[in-house]
Amino acid sequence: MKPFAVGVTKLLRDTSSPLYFDLQGTIKDAFVTFSKVDEDEIVTVKGLVESVHQGLLVNAVIQTRWQGSCVRCLEEASGEIKVQVRELFEPQGSGEDDSYHFDGEILDLTELIKDFIVLELPVVPLCRKDCKGLCATCGQNLNEGSCSCIKDDIDPRWGKLRSLSDG
Ligand SMILES: [Zn+2]
Ligand SMILES: [Zn+2]
Repeated sequence: MKPFAVGVTKLLRDTSSPLYFDLQGTIKDAFVTFSKVDEDEIVTVKGLVESVHQGLLVNAVIQTRWQGSCVRCLEEASGEIKVQVRELFEPQGSGEDDSYHFDGEILDLTELIKDFIVLELPVVPLCRKDCKGLCATCGQNLNEGSCSCIKDDIDPRWGKLRSLSDG
């Protein structure tokens, strides 16, 4: 069963009123390097399909959650994805190859959903906006407290002068 397939038989016969849908399912292979949508995460897709001259026009809101690891502290990170889409599906065998197509009386939104989720996945996920990350010297998670490493934040040009006067 394809959870994101919509039967459009009625719509193709009576094009005067749109077809509303409210779908839920899961999606595979939606990931980027540091974040993903889990394969058992529920994806909700609500919207409508209209019959237009060139094919079927889909207006929908896709909603789910992403998981990943924070690029600063490596702890788990997660967040919401909510994206509005408006895309034309053309009948199979017409239009451009890189546009979306529907096959006969079935409009399968799976590819569209995956494409837009992947675009929304954070490339640089953070556990929180102000994550302090890890100490570069000892690896302490600085969100949990500071470490005892001495911060060498003196301008390196002065370091030489300092060592001269210390010596
Ligand atoms: Zn973090
Ligand atoms: Zn440290």
